[in-house]
Amino acid sequence: MSNVLLFDIDGTLLNSGDAGQHAMEQALLEVFGVTGPYENILAAGRTDRAITTDLFAHHKIESSETNWSTFQEAYFRHLLQSLGKLDGVVLPGIVGLLDGLAANPNVTLGLLTGNFQIGAQLKLRHYQLDHHFAFGGFGDHHFDRDDVARLAMEAACAHLNQTVPGESIWVIGDTPSDIKCGRAIGARVVAVSTGIYSYEVLEEAGPDFLFTDFSDVAAVTQCLTALSK
Ligand SMILES: [Mg+2]
Repeated sequence: MSNVLLFDIDGTLLNSGDAGQHAMEQALLEVFGVTGPYENILAAGRTDRAITTDLFAHHKIESSETNWSTFQEAYFRHLLQSLGKLDGVVLPGIVGLLDGLAANPNVTLGLLTGNFQIGAQLKLRHYQLDHHFAFGGFGDHHFDRDDVARLAMEAACAHLNQTVPGESIWVIGDTPSDIKCGRAIGARVVAVSTGIYSYEVLEEAGPDFLFTDFSDVAAVTQCLTALSK
């Protein structure tokens, strides 16, 4: 069967200039009147649900449905504004890589991201990458990225209307958590050091392939389109 490629967003496809962090800070201030300590909370590789839960706990904000929906509404509004204001970029090689893969009948593109689903859509739309992705696993409900990987795998099966074995899946990401969650579903992993983790740290986590960036589109495409044995 064809390969399913599950892409992370932040640090892999794009660098939003910390638009997510900025928007979370603005939303916390607007809705609850509190600031910080965002810089003390690890965000890379984690789910928005986990990051927000840490922030709520730090500020002793009750984890109620009302607080969640009010916070999310403010977060998405501020995220849209932050994306327009901050100097983000689509990372090297990504536009050509996705255009080529989208036209390749041997692969199907999806997302595996810790972002809330609406946040993921806002980021991808801002950078005009959203049209490539019809399904994915998102960080709305789960704390552990491994669970998001399972969601993404289920979404791939639903999208293709067939069982997708782990060996036909590639997870593409920029953190040790991406590598670990790929293993959790039996997938192969391509890592890239365009996020906050160095090449050496990612190498230690043992991906199948590791790139400093995706500017060598032909080499990355060759990895991702090779059919499993
Ligand atoms: Mg990432």
